[in-house]
Amino acid sequence: MGLNNTDVKPTEGQGDDFRLGQHLPGVITTQLQKVINWGRQSSMWYMSFGLACCAIEDIMAAGASRYDLDRLGLFFRASPRQSDLMLVAGTVTEKMAPRIRTLYEQMAEPRYVIALGTCAIAGGPFAGGYNTVLGVDKIIPVDVYVPGCPPRPEALFYGIMKLQEKIRKHGVNPPAPRKAKTAPKEGSKA
Ligand code: SF4
Repeated sequence: MGLNNTDVKPTEGQGDDFRLGQHLPGVITTQLQKVINWGRQSSMWYMSFGLACCAIEDIMAAGASRYDLDRLGLFFRASPRQSDLMLVAGTVTEKMAPRIRTLYEQMAEPRYVIALGTCAIAGGPFAGGYNTVLGVDKIIPVDVYVPGCPPRPEALFYGIMKLQEKIRKHGVNPPAPRKAKTAPKEGSKA
């Protein structure tokens, strides 16, 4: 049986400002928040997107039957508009940076990003290259970093669980994502 404002009568002296929320603080809103965040953390759809070897070594290995990302409710989607998780796996180049930013902006909100491997985190073995971006967090905000070259699928699972932990702490409206450290470099020719 539902309970609403009209079911609770104000007692003497409470006046017209009586509201259910004032007398049951957090009971209803906290439960709603838990349900919403449970749904968010259990149905992250990641965009099928890879930049270099980490995409094969890590995402494809973790998605296949031995590790099976589906167990955590993660499914890959071929469109950014139906995805809320970007796994950045591989070296980010100056040429790809504006495209990555565009794909990120096309994703559904709230959206999350995991930087997989040392290349996506800080340029990895190609950090001295003329066209290497020193970390994808220079162009989009990153929620979780998973180090390794390549990281093991177990490391990706751990990173996903850390992201789920973070989502559980969000309110009904998650905080605005941090800004990327620098704007993407424009003018690269495809
Ligand atoms: S971190 Fe290592 S495995 Fe991953 S993309 Fe870079 S070089 Fe390849």
